[in-house]
Amino acid sequence: MNASRFYLIYLENVLDFLVSTLILLSYAMKEIKILLIILFFSGCLPIPQQKRAAPMEISVHFINVGQGDAIFIDTAKDDMLIDCGNNGKGGVILDYLQDLGVQDIKYLVITHIHPDHIGGCDEILRGIIVDKVLMDGQGDRSDSYRDVIKEIDIEELIIPETGYDSSLDSARWEVLKANIDSNNPNENSIVIRLIYGDIGFLFTGDCDEACEDEFLDDDIDVEVLKVAHHGCKDGTDNDFLQKTTPEIAIIQVAAINKFGKPHQECIDRLEAAGVKIYRNDLNGNIIVKTNGNKYTVETTLPLLKQRFKDSLNSRTRGVLESMSIFRENSGN
Ligand SMILES: [Zn+2]
Repeated sequence: MNASRFYLIYLENVLDFLVSTLILLSYAMKEIKILLIILFFSGCLPIPQQKRAAPMEISVHFINVGQGDAIFIDTAKDDMLIDCGNNGKGGVILDYLQDLGVQDIKYLVITHIHPDHIGGCDEILRGIIVDKVLMDGQGDRSDSYRDVIKEIDIEELIIPETGYDSSLDSARWEVLKANIDSNNPNENSIVIRLIYGDIGFLFTGDCDEACEDEFLDDDIDVEVLKVAHHGCKDGTDNDFLQKTTPEIAIIQVAAINKFGKPHQECIDRLEAAGVKIYRNDLNGNIIVKTNGNKYTVETTLPLLKQRFKDSLNSRTRGVLESMSIFRENSGN
């Protein structure tokens, strides 16, 4: 056999081998494809899914502090407390925050100088780390005001202008009204709108009708409204409800209060507008949770005795205490 014939045979063999391998491979691929299809449809293979991060949830707690406001906005990153209830209610709020595992608060907003909003803030400032304190800038000579001012460092203090805005994690918030033109401290309340995704909240302090009119032309369409001034008849008028179109309204009020709040006129307007009402005196703590698309409402109805203890004014509390002493003495 000469050399050229030898190479020809060698080449033929190599080609044969390659062709056979390719044929075998193509059969194998077909088999593998068929096997994969069978496994896929039989559910043995996991269906590939796009990874999506779970949407962040924020919670807004309307804490039951009797007659007064205290609202805690809890996000994964930053938190805000709006008002601290009356004198002596700071401890109630601190206990509440401790139960939530809160270590610090980024923003404390004191809507105005009245004691049912500023009263417990000195305890808050002593009891937990607060990064920034927002106040309306109106001074006062009350003990409540003095006690709080003593606890604030000047570098912590922000006197915001209307339009001041910032964020709480992915949620945005904005000051809709911050001027102090009125002689009535209620009308000087800092008003805040919080937006997270499609869900909006409006926190109105004690801002009554004249005050509401100041930001009526802003974008104030929200889902959740903190009713101004504990459900006072002078606020939350029909114009305001037409612009805000809330689905739910929260009234921070005590079961018995010397002001007779919430006033029936306010309740009637909210009901006529189809707004679902939640009240601290009837529902206890009210918690609105949202992922930015939808929201849920949870309430904790406290024990009747606790509710009365928190909410009665001094005269009726005296009667109740006498009654309980009488009952204890009579063995009932
Ligand atoms: Zn108030």
